[in-house]
Amino acid sequence: MSFFTSVTGFPRIGELRELKFCEEKYFRGEISEEELKQTAKQLRKKHWLEQNGIDFIPSNDFSYYDNMLDTAVLFNIIPERYKNLCLSETDTYFAMARGYQKNGKDVKALAMKKWFNTNYHYIVPEYEDDIQIKLTGTKPFDEYIEAQEYGIDTVPSLIGPLTLIKLIRFKGNIKENDILNDILTAYKQLTEKFEELGAKWIAFCEPFLVKDLTKDDIELFEKIYLYLLESKRIKVLLQTYFGDVRNCVDSINKLDFDGVGLDFCEGKKTEEIVCGIDKNKLLFAGVVNGKNIWKNNYTKTIDIIRNTGRENIVISTSCSLLHVPYTLENESKLELKSKKYFAFAKEKLTELKEIKDALNSTNETDAFRENKVLFSSERYTEDTEVKNKVQNIDNEQYTRLPAFNEREKIQKERFKFPLLPTTTIGSFPQTIDVKQNRTKFKKGEISESEYIEFNKKKIKECIELQEELGIDVLVHGEYERNDMVEYFGENLNGFIFTEKAWVQSYGTRCVKPPIIWGDISRKAPITVEWSKYAQSLTKKPVKGMLTGPVTILNWSFPREDISTKESTLQIALAIRDEVLDLEKNDIKIIQIDEAALREKLPLRKSDWHREYLDWVIPSFRLVHSCVKADTQIHTHMCYSEFSDIIKAIDAMDADVITFEASRSDLQLLDVLKENNFKTEVGPGVYDIHSPRVPSVEEIVSAIEKMLTKTESSKLWINPDCGLKTRGNEETIKSLKNMVEAVNIVRKKLNTVSSR
Ligand code: GLN
Ligand code: ZN
Repeated sequence: MSFFTSVTGFPRIGELRELKFCEEKYFRGEISEEELKQTAKQLRKKHWLEQNGIDFIPSNDFSYYDNMLDTAVLFNIIPERYKNLCLSETDTYFAMARGYQKNGKDVKALAMKKWFNTNYHYIVPEYEDDIQIKLTGTKPFDEYIEAQEYGIDTVPSLIGPLTLIKLIRFKGNIKENDILNDILTAYKQLTEKFEELGAKWIAFCEPFLVKDLTKDDIELFEKIYLYLLESKRIKVLLQTYFGDVRNCVDSINKLDFDGVGLDFCEGKKTEEIVCGIDKNKLLFAGVVNGKNIWKNNYTKTIDIIRNTGRENIVISTSCSLLHVPYTLENESKLELKSKKYFAFAKEKLTELKEIKDALNSTNETDAFRENKVLFSSERYTEDTEVKNKVQNIDNEQYTRLPAFNEREKIQKERFKFPLLPTTTIGSFPQTIDVKQNRTKFKKGEISESEYIEFNKKKIKECIELQEELGIDVLVHGEYERNDMVEYFGENLNGFIFTEKAWVQSYGTRCVKPPIIWGDISRKAPITVEWSKYAQSLTKKPVKGMLTGPVTILNWSFPREDISTKESTLQIALAIRDEVLDLEKNDIKIIQIDEAALREKLPLRKSDWHREYLDWVIPSFRLVHSCVKADTQIHTHMCYSEFSDIIKAIDAMDADVITFEASRSDLQLLDVLKENNFKTEVGPGVYDIHSPRVPSVEEIVSAIEKMLTKTESSKLWINPDCGLKTRGNEETIKSLKNMVEAVNIVRKKLNTVSSR
């Protein structure tokens, strides 16, 4: 038996986010295009050399912004409006990624979407009817040649034609099948060019294959690769990830791929399926998890590898390492006793090599022995109280009583809100002074009481402002929070935080997810004092503001030794304690944000309920089922992308849900109506993602449109997300216009009803 190693993709943002900072300088006009390119080149070099000793090292996994955008540009899928800007290649590329507002021109960016089930977002290629698809770019070739300068013969990695076609947004009359020939010709040329350059392998990434495929999808897949693989003079790897390929094993076997990359981490059926895959195809076994930060359990991995019964195997990552941070080496504050359980991208390279060595060696290697010791020792001390609590949750705790209709009446009686009540989503601008106050406190430059006093001052101003504006349900402003997940994580037992463990979310934006280390419980009340203080300043209700369990889980690195369901229930119980404390302290309305509820919805629709919604929705209900009938529960979701899970959203059984709708032409409201959505709704009336101030007329017309689709008794008026990224000035102006608009609509409604 022979074993090799391979990497599907390496993080490109840089060990210390060098690419991000360099690009931001370029965007601000502080450095030249040449300087930007130099930095990029140095980073690519560093990343390739880092992978030294790996048998299959990728190229073209680098990107200035996103690989899907790279692919679109490579094949000339550039909408007219960007071409018309007449910018350099680089700036056209960035205009597509970020929009362009300069020299009197104003073009919006292409849409951005979540990349399968990750928190990475790709740029959606947009096809207009007059686009001529052809190979016009050279990036993959340039980078292949560049790596050779360092003596590395890479495997160029490309988004495969099937996934590309499936993710393109067609704007005109031309559809999928009409562009197929051009796509195939372009990919064929690309393959031939690599043959000319002497590349031995080329990898086509086809994550689309792990979804539920229709007959048409499978036909398309076969058609594409029958053509592409015909009379090729290069080895072709079909790279899949984020799940298993259960729907297309026969097709894969039929087609002349030389290698097949399968995901053994997320692919539930991969171990089963692999036996049915043609033994002549080299298996790239994705056994090192590209999405999580825990060390690999070599014993288990080696078992999996041996069970495949194959002669030659390439040990690989389950997907690109783009989804994990760069290296543990910069984590100076992590205790050694926890650090030894983690592997980030760089450490995962070592794992690949160690697994290969262990497989090749007749004696047990030192690394294998150490790994065994690590996994046989107790990692952390169980919190039996938490475990028991989760075990003893009885079914009743998942249901809030009385039912919604009755609660709605009771609450309308209690709050006596005017028609179309106004509110905001929670945060107010995190201006420099707010951030400075927090940093100073963290660094120990100011005392705790100074820190608190400052925030109280901000809260007071925030309450006064909202009263002045005439908003009905107030918020305290969230000045004490850096991030809606990190803040709660820091105040719960069971979380670990990193310093430099950044992961690219989109373009130059990175996130630093906390790690769930152990059993989760609440140390002490978290938000109660802030909320109490805010409520003491006004007669109007102030919303308590919490992050929900599903979002906390989805934006953290989860444990692998217990199920995500169990961790989520633990978090739910902790947040429930907070809900009850808020209620006890006379907070009458509590918002539990589930911004990331949809994030980990399985890729296969057939798994949605059984594997996700059936425990996710109850977990949310567990948090609030215990409150009194007249306590009003709000929730907020960031994207209005929930038409297809509408029943599940209603089943969260909140009293009010606010969401982003200002950019999505209100289609969702039709869906709400069709489904008799019971929860009251606040579809954001203006977009907070831009500094633009919406006019009164604009908001009036947005509200009136909403009223054609929603009963006025169910409609709330609010911006579409938190205001923390906005400035004070535009926030005040926008909210003022919002309230004025509501008053105009209310007046109209009253005259109609009194007639
Ligand atoms: N309450 C949070 C805020 O207003 C919600 C943020 C979010 O939806 N991402 O900032
Ligand atoms: Zn939001």
